[in-house]
Amino acid sequence: MHFDAIGRVPGDPILGLMEAYAQDPNPRKFDLGVGVYKDAQGLTPVLQSVKLAEQRLVDRQGSKTYIGGHGFAEFGRQINALVLGADSPLIAAQRVGATQTPGGTGALRLSADFIAQCLPGRGIWLSNPTWPIHETIFNIAGLKVSHYPYVGSDNRLDVEAMLAALRQVPKGDVVLLHACCHNPTGFDLSHDDWRRVLEVVRSRDLLPLIDFAYQGFGDGLEQDAWAVRLFANELPELLITSSCSKNFGLYSDRTGALIVCTRSAEKLIDVRSQLANIARNLWSTPPDHGAAVVATILGDADLKTLWADEVEGMRTRIAQLRSSLLQALEPHGLRERFAHIGEQRGMFSYTGLSPEQVKQLRDSHSVYMVGTGRANVAGIDATRLDSLAEAIAQVCK
Ligand code: PMP
Repeated sequence: MHFDAIGRVPGDPILGLMEAYAQDPNPRKFDLGVGVYKDAQGLTPVLQSVKLAEQRLVDRQGSKTYIGGHGFAEFGRQINALVLGADSPLIAAQRVGATQTPGGTGALRLSADFIAQCLPGRGIWLSNPTWPIHETIFNIAGLKVSHYPYVGSDNRLDVEAMLAALRQVPKGDVVLLHACCHNPTGFDLSHDDWRRVLEVVRSRDLLPLIDFAYQGFGDGLEQDAWAVRLFANELPELLITSSCSKNFGLYSDRTGALIVCTRSAEKLIDVRSQLANIARNLWSTPPDHGAAVVATILGDADLKTLWADEVEGMRTRIAQLRSSLLQALEPHGLRERFAHIGEQRGMFSYTGLSPEQVKQLRDSHSVYMVGTGRANVAGIDATRLDSLAEAIAQVCK
């Protein structure tokens, strides 16, 4: 038969973890696995600003006809301003364009095919570790994937090793950088580190691709864009993948953009013609709903204020959970050992727990996290921090 030779591939380990969690009958279980934000009730709710925007759309939307290859123009304008700043000189010079994509993943896939087709022979450099889908997306597109170190054996950011490796990258290659809230580690570069990376990028003539999936979850909506804006203002060319999954809570609506900065308005038109052509063969035209919601929110002063407050609420809840967990670990004498949890940013923490400890946490305490020791801090139930700390202390004995 036609399908007889087809074998089975293992499922996504994080989704497998989700299933194992769902099947665990222990009512006192903890889900620190999959990367979605959770509120104090353990839910991933629709934001109020999104509900209000959706209500307006239901009332006003007159058609569901296709939108163009680059998506909804107003969404593109708004997302450029959100990422680069409304007063960005690139926007004024028409050196930047957004192509609407199905989530940040779609933007990464579009950039992978763009590099493969329009910049043949360029390799791509990913941090070690990185979000596992980075590895597969660029591989599938046929790019040579290499890695630069990011975290040392002491489970701390190792900027010197990162810079030393980047200095050896072949001229012209692409380097993928996480704008903030590095997934999976939670370790972010300081402003000084970013300036040093910029110098290497410049001296090796590298093309940065900045993955911006967590704007607003680190230090704030504007603060998190600092490095992206530095690179956009200092370099002639840049690729940025922006996701609205986390900060708008639009996970299932698949909303994101590939933002491209070029050295001239003229060149932007060339590059965008290629992107529209590639997108046409990937998903034809992008899904509209989430982008229409984002454009509605960002285009209305009141909705935008409400949304920014909601993002700030999510951000501060995560930051609070980090410090509360450290407090809960204190009586066990573990505060020092896990001090990095307080320094990391965003939803994730590379805890430094070993795969054996992670397994023990799961088997004996129903605490679910990824095998690498990555915990989703946003999944912590703040009312049960003491029992989480107790479980961690047990496996650290
Ligand atoms: N980049 C990183 C680093 C991510 O963690 C994610 C989401 N897990 C994405 C991109 C893509 O997000 P989405 O496709 O859900 O918008």
